[in-house]
Amino acid sequence: MRLFNTKGLKLEEFTTNQPGKVTMYCCGPTVHDRAHIGNFRTFLFEDVLYRYLKYKQFDITFVMNITDVDDKTILKARKQKLSLREYTNIYTQAFFDDRDTLRIHPASLYPRATDHIPEMIDMIQVLLEKGYAYKSHDSVYFRITAFQDYGKLSGIDHQALIDGYRVDSDDYTKESPKDFVLWKGRREDEDYWDAPFGQGRPGWHLECSVMSTKYLGIPIDIHAGGVDLIFPHHENEIAQSEAAFGKSFVRYWLHSAHLQVEGEKMAKSKGNFFTVRELVDDGHDPLMLRYMLMSVHYRKQLNFNDDSLMQAKGALSRLKDFLYRLQRETFSEGRSPEVENILVRAKKTFEESLDDDLNISGAFGALFEMIYGLNKLADKKEVGAGDVPMIEAAVRNMDQIFAIASFPETNINQEIESLIEERNAARRRKDFKTADEIRTHLLAQGIVLEDTTSGTHWKKQ
Ligand SMILES: [Zn+2]
Repeated sequence: MRLFNTKGLKLEEFTTNQPGKVTMYCCGPTVHDRAHIGNFRTFLFEDVLYRYLKYKQFDITFVMNITDVDDKTILKARKQKLSLREYTNIYTQAFFDDRDTLRIHPASLYPRATDHIPEMIDMIQVLLEKGYAYKSHDSVYFRITAFQDYGKLSGIDHQALIDGYRVDSDDYTKESPKDFVLWKGRREDEDYWDAPFGQGRPGWHLECSVMSTKYLGIPIDIHAGGVDLIFPHHENEIAQSEAAFGKSFVRYWLHSAHLQVEGEKMAKSKGNFFTVRELVDDGHDPLMLRYMLMSVHYRKQLNFNDDSLMQAKGALSRLKDFLYRLQRETFSEGRSPEVENILVRAKKTFEESLDDDLNISGAFGALFEMIYGLNKLADKKEVGAGDVPMIEAAVRNMDQIFAIASFPETNINQEIESLIEERNAARRRKDFKTADEIRTHLLAQGIVLEDTTSGTHWKKQ
């Protein structure tokens, strides 16, 4: 399996630090508000990565932090007269709800920044002792000129660093490297903790270094996030961790490209800012959103617009119709060697694609070509009843990664089939009232009946 490592900017064969085990850390949400679908594009890329590593039988520990202390969370909690914990609990839960809506596999652990303040204080102490950090007024800063490798991930020129040019804010500009804050001295009306170097609170970058090394050790196999985190966030994480531990921090850095809306960056001010909740409330199928947000290779920009939604809708209904066809059609006895060929070819293409830096479009191509080929065979009556379980197993196998399939359940099927039988009997005796009642009853459960020359078929709305 090859992955594109931002460190070195090239495709590399993926190996693990310990045989059979993967340690993976992904920067999680800042819980000051609902995450937007651009954030979820990154979380879905990480989900595909996680699911595929599992598919490949790795024993994987996946940690995602919850940033529950920064400028924004503090400000917003104060405005609503809630404690930091009360306020961030609301949006932590909202994040988990959206995650489940999109069928994103939960991480092994979601550590919260505010539960790790003592460990952060310890790390700052080490950096102070080693001379990588200094106190100025009531805050502590990381001295980036002391760390020779600063800039190696992002390509920022180390020679251009200006010592003593400091920044306190959590969301400072991305243009130039600056000494960044490790510990912000206590401000009036802000949450604070006691520390040997004075009361205050941690800077944002520190938490990822502390929590990733605490739970995953050092080095970590994979650290992932959106491209906007490469500088300064990930650059700063490397500086802190490698300065403190004297070891290489991360083996593979993976970054996903932005989501654009109608060719523009998504922004609240432009009115093109969407959350998962809003889109689902507007009637969009969550699985369609899942498909749409993961269907383009993670390093390519994805444009969110009506076209991409329509394409996603089309793809999902092709899959859905196919699965219902397998359920409702009567196939003749036996098996067909041609079906087996199609299944073997599909699995090979699916795995080769994902092995190639998670080429998700190639993997979806394998699924939909398989469906196309099998539909053609079924039209010619060349699919046997014995093939059906194998076909379903092939879809389930790929769906371990895609997680978009809805399999019709057999017991529901039997119920529906018997109601259809009852309705047919009613029609035969010209009892159209009963026949209509059965149709309406099924429709209320989202089941649509289609009367065709080959009999009555049903599908979910
Ligand atoms: Zn981070």
